[in-house]
Amino acid sequence: MSRRITLRLLASLLATALGGCAIYADYGFGRVARSRLDPGLATPVSLPPGAPTISQRFRPDDVPFDAGHKGFDLLVPSGTPVIAAAAGSVSRLSLTPMFGRQIRVDHGRAEAGHRLQTRYVHLSARLVSEGETVRRGQLLGYSGMSGLAAGFPHLHFEVHRLDDAHPPRARGYLDPQLFWVDGVGRVTCFDRDRDYAEAPVHLTYPVPCRGVNWN
Ligand SMILES: [Zn+2]
Repeated sequence: MSRRITLRLLASLLATALGGCAIYADYGFGRVARSRLDPGLATPVSLPPGAPTISQRFRPDDVPFDAGHKGFDLLVPSGTPVIAAAAGSVSRLSLTPMFGRQIRVDHGRAEAGHRLQTRYVHLSARLVSEGETVRRGQLLGYSGMSGLAAGFPHLHFEVHRLDDAHPPRARGYLDPQLFWVDGVGRVTCFDRDRDYAEAPVHLTYPVPCRGVNWN
């Protein structure tokens, strides 16, 4: 086993122990990696053929012997454009050892009435500032492997439920698969030529899809 692979494996095991991103699969499009950790795959997911592969799904953190996974991972090379999943405003840029360079964007209300926030993690670069208003599909930055990214570049993407306190704080992690424009589990690629209703909030894929115009 090469030193490089050994390091990747160690990083992956460490990330799993900490409840981070870990499950590695090959780069590609249109696939959703299955894992023995996925709890019965309750939400079927369909991915358009040009959408970068999901290497790890959301898992709740209340399953015994599993720290959960608070978002999903997109297997994309470093430098892949990361785009806003809906219109909103940039609420926070941060840098932490676990998640590296991050961007949070606050959106309006979902169908259930609560407000949503999206978070984009392990970025290599950020192109927006706090307080900036962004439109759906706007370039926010580039993916990478900053923080504890388990040794391979990917985008970790989360959806948070915000409470109504001021300033709003995240109150829980939600499965992003529940919020696509095209319906639950129906991953929706951002298409610059399509009209989107921005209320209630529904999401489009946080990276461009192959063969779909985005900018
Ligand atoms: Zn992850």
